[in-house]
Amino acid sequence: MTTEIPPCPLCKMENTYQDGDNYICADCAHEWPIIAIAEAEETEEVIKDANGTVLRDGDTVILIKDLKVKGSSITLKQGTKVKSIRLTSGDHAVDCRIDGGSFMLKQSFLKKA
Ligand SMILES: [Zn+2]
Repeated sequence: MTTEIPPCPLCKMENTYQDGDNYICADCAHEWPIIAIAEAEETEEVIKDANGTVLRDGDTVILIKDLKVKGSSITLKQGTKVKSIRLTSGDHAVDCRIDGGSFMLKQSFLKKA
């Protein structure tokens, strides 16, 4: 009888309802797929980019500043496009591959492409 509808991921209001495969927020009219939220709850942590946009596995992001890689002479250039990110948790939550190397990037230095 009780359906567990999560609060809106944008405005956090709980005035949400289900419509087919989507949830809809009555307050800000945001719609989001039920499946994506289920995945987000599994990781328990919402990873946001520099603009506050929620990142998901497989997203493409762009570096918004030059990043020196700790323990190496590599600098990742501002504007570098990074495809198929994988999210973990914590401060450097974005796991990705650039030019064959594997990096953990800080989500606050990225924006969703
Ligand atoms: Zn909302």
